[in-house]
Amino acid sequence: MSRRRDERARPRSGRNASADAFRCLHCRLDVPMSAPGTRHRNHCPNCLYSRHVDRDVPGDRAAECGARMEPIAISVRGDGEWVIIHRCTACDELGANRTAGDDNPLVLVRMAARPLAAPPFPLERLAAL
Ligand SMILES: [Zn+2]
Ligand SMILES: [Zn+2]
Repeated sequence: MSRRRDERARPRSGRNASADAFRCLHCRLDVPMSAPGTRHRNHCPNCLYSRHVDRDVPGDRAAECGARMEPIAISVRGDGEWVIIHRCTACDELGANRTAGDDNPLVLVRMAARPLAAPPFPLERLAAL
């Protein structure tokens, strides 16, 4: 009896999840596919983790890996657009994904500031230049 109830409590988990949403592999948030400012939502707006599903172009879903992709850096395009660099936790493949309008700004800024928080040389050296 209790087993039946458990199954009904999680109707959209795993492969049965609807095509217009996915569950984040990192923070377990249920994320709707539609996102402001982008046609292909490919990362979680809460923790910015992605999943290794695209191979050549965003949205092709041609990769068989399927593992978690960790957000490791921010890059800025010529038009000022921020791009998240993801690295696959299984195969080390790198990917670049545009930010979406509802991405967590605190996580974005923290990632962008990370190199300045851990410089490879003493920052005092800049004063001597
Ligand atoms: Zn997440
Ligand atoms: Zn991978």
